[in-house]
Amino acid sequence: MPAYPRSYELWYTYSAGYNQGLNRAINESIKANGRVTTDEMLTLYGRFLSPTRLGDRLDEVGMQVSKEVEELVDTLKLSTDATSDYGSALEQAGEKIKSVTDPEKLQAYLTHLVKSTQNAVTSNRKLESQLLESKKHIERLQSSLEAIRYESLTDELTTLNNRKHFENSIERIIDQSKESGRGFALLMTDVDHFKKFNDTYGHQTGDQVLRLVALAVKQNIKAQDIACRYGGEEFAIILPHESLEAAAEIAESIRTAVMSKELVKRSTGENLGRVTISVGVAIYQAMDTGHSIVSRADEALYAAKNAGRNLVKTELDL
Ligand code: GH3
Ligand code: MG
Ligand code: MG
Repeated sequence: MPAYPRSYELWYTYSAGYNQGLNRAINESIKANGRVTTDEMLTLYGRFLSPTRLGDRLDEVGMQVSKEVEELVDTLKLSTDATSDYGSALEQAGEKIKSVTDPEKLQAYLTHLVKSTQNAVTSNRKLESQLLESKKHIERLQSSLEAIRYESLTDELTTLNNRKHFENSIERIIDQSKESGRGFALLMTDVDHFKKFNDTYGHQTGDQVLRLVALAVKQNIKAQDIACRYGGEEFAIILPHESLEAAAEIAESIRTAVMSKELVKRSTGENLGRVTISVGVAIYQAMDTGHSIVSRADEALYAAKNAGRNLVKTELDL
């Protein structure tokens, strides 16, 4: 492979193994052709790693949508033209037939009518198959858009929701809470002494630990709960309709799940000990904004850190 920065990034990501889509695509290419060419490498980079990839893909889908719409409009125009031609042929024939007495002439008109009808049937069939084709294209475009939307709201490392998703969700749930009067709880978690962990075992191992923490979060929440990677090693979890006490219990179960996992480095079998997390819990109050409830959960989190870490604190402990 040429020593391009893009090539380096691609193979680094491949060997670190944290972009499953990329690894799958590379493995398939190697399986099929025994190698990855430079051109393929650049294409894969564009698809999986380029910082502008979502925008590029969105542009591409957008272009395909306008092309599809243009074609549909053309098809519909052709079809309305054909229908109106057929309509006037019928009208004219209707008028003329009234005064015809000569059977030969009548037969000629009828032959003409049958021909027009056959043309109309053919053009309708063509329209039908074109519409069916368009329907397929549009369904494919829809699923591309869904994939782009999913990716734009998902954190790649942990597959939890990302910060953007969190910001959207907290605004939405605040609006819902104002309307329904049913509140929600917010957990903010932060890994304890994570800088030291990274310094000791390396950033890549640190990344694997973040995945493990994310897994512990996922395993201790319900489908309606919204878990997000808020920042580097911080996770935010929105718990709809939970009381402060119930939310603190869920926080406790996540905290215990994380500390109970003994970390073993897969490649060497080295025992890395355990990591712990601290959690802050806040509950929705009337007049809350996204910012104000996050601040209270953060304060509770810092209270947990100050009290010695590996603890859950709620806003009532402040
Ligand atoms: P504490 O929270 O207990 O006060 O100590 P800390 O060492 O965890 O302090 P802080 O939360 O301020 O440090 C965050 C560290 O997390 C910095 C960085 O080394 C690590 N970190 C942040 N994001 C990532 C990431 O995406 N991957 C890895 N491996 N480490 C990250
Ligand atoms: Mg932090
Ligand atoms: Mg930390």
